[in-house]
Amino acid sequence: MAQTRIAPPAAKPEGQWAFDPERTPLNGNEQLKQADDGLHVRERIETVYALQGFDSIPADDLRGRMRWWGLYTQRKPGIDGGKTATLEPHELDDSYFMLRVRCDGGTLTLRQLRVVADISREFGRDTADITDRQNIQLHWIRVEDVPEIWRRLEDVGLTTLEACGDVPRVILGSPVAGVAADEIIDGTPAIEEIRRRYIGDPAFSNLPRKFKTAVSGSPHQDVAHEINDVAFVGVVHPELGPGFDLWVGGALSTNPMLGKRLGAFVTLEQVPDVWVGVVSIFRDYGYRRLRTRARLKFLLADWGPDLFREVLEREYLGYALSDGPAPPPPPTGHRDHVGVHPQKDGRFYVGAAPTVGRVSGPLLATLADLVEAAGSDRVQLTTEQKLVVLDVAADRVDALVAGIEGLGLRVRTASTFRRGTIACTGIEFCKLAIVETKARATGLVDELERRLPTFEQPITINVNGCPNSCARIQTADIGLKGALAQGEEGYQVHLGGGLGLTSGLGKTLRGLRVPSSELPDYVERVTRRFDEQRTEGELFAQ
Ligand code: SF4
Repeated sequence: MAQTRIAPPAAKPEGQWAFDPERTPLNGNEQLKQADDGLHVRERIETVYALQGFDSIPADDLRGRMRWWGLYTQRKPGIDGGKTATLEPHELDDSYFMLRVRCDGGTLTLRQLRVVADISREFGRDTADITDRQNIQLHWIRVEDVPEIWRRLEDVGLTTLEACGDVPRVILGSPVAGVAADEIIDGTPAIEEIRRRYIGDPAFSNLPRKFKTAVSGSPHQDVAHEINDVAFVGVVHPELGPGFDLWVGGALSTNPMLGKRLGAFVTLEQVPDVWVGVVSIFRDYGYRRLRTRARLKFLLADWGPDLFREVLEREYLGYALSDGPAPPPPPTGHRDHVGVHPQKDGRFYVGAAPTVGRVSGPLLATLADLVEAAGSDRVQLTTEQKLVVLDVAADRVDALVAGIEGLGLRVRTASTFRRGTIACTGIEFCKLAIVETKARATGLVDELERRLPTFEQPITINVNGCPNSCARIQTADIGLKGALAQGEEGYQVHLGGGLGLTSGLGKTLRGLRVPSSELPDYVERVTRRFDEQRTEGELFAQ
């Protein structure tokens, strides 16, 4: 690494490691991470907590380091959302865990799918959710069962390593990488290389906060690249051919910012080196004083793209990247892969829509049987909480579609509402939630299908249980954020956000809180008004 450092940007110390050789921790989270690496908690789980039970877990591990291995305590049932902010963390803790399984690139083989299904059935009360970051989340997990669950997952190449915590999280990838007929470039080798080299590397297990990555060579820009800390977006360079456009500093939550282009072209081979350069900047220069300012977006906002690129090239890469073009806008408003589509090899991929990502162990087990009968070995998860079966021969498509639809998932019959609605975990399991989300969103989809059966325009409805925006409040046509309305459960509304063709943050309708009981009426009204007033080809956010 080069010796020159840029000058600290602020008079007040931001806790940046680059300027603090002593690495003085300036808040409780930083103290916790300095006291012991989160990666080390695995040994204690296996040798102490799994044997001695939930009550043997000290608070720092329970609510801190266990995240480094994908484990969060889930919310004690029956505590209403009005009490979320008033109770101490231990009062919200149930003695069960949510377990997040990372599926880098969204990929699950048939064998992996079966193992996840079995774990859900045996240890997770049949629960399983597909998240909007291509993970699988299981619930009701007991610490006593965690070592056996890890054994089974790792036996088939899955892991919960760094699925949560201040680390590089799951790497998003196009669900149809390597098979889509219109693909610009297949990013899979880069995803695999980053994962092989750096996931679990102690050099990156103490970042200022979480670090999110997306790599997609799809012209449909199908991984929500705009809201990742670093994203590699497929593009064709006029002289160098297919590669990636580099984006940095996207993230939502309470200070939403879309990622910025650095104007740099990255070849497939360069992706892992550029990735490690960006994550190293975050580790060394990222703000650690205030947790609310610790995401990479704040550093990028202060530096700007030009300085960020200069530091990346000068201090970390040691060479200059080529300038490159911006990716063209995606061709359509849909980015969800639902339906039956031809692959470049003559076979087909079949995209299916569960409602708001909710599936179950038994459903996944039956799905695995259907996938096997269709001659496929691969199921992909999407950032829209959907799934895609790859590599299906033409003469097996109809049987597979019928089987999947028999499970209650939709392929050819998915309404625009089922395709476009996602929801975060919400009050059912999440300790930060103020309101219910999954069941509420499912009811909303059912109602909208009944009331607006002919509405076909692409529309996104993102339902969140609190301001943290795990389900992307600000980038939906209709973003719903859990809030209390005169003591009653309800939602604050953001309208007109989007990604891809309509990329931009939605506007908050200040002062408006829609009570849960009125949600279908409100969304129906907004949707009808859009339908009546739109011009030919106009999308909701335009
Ligand atoms: Fe929990 Fe809030 Fe995230 Fe929903 S948005 S999963 S309620 S933290």
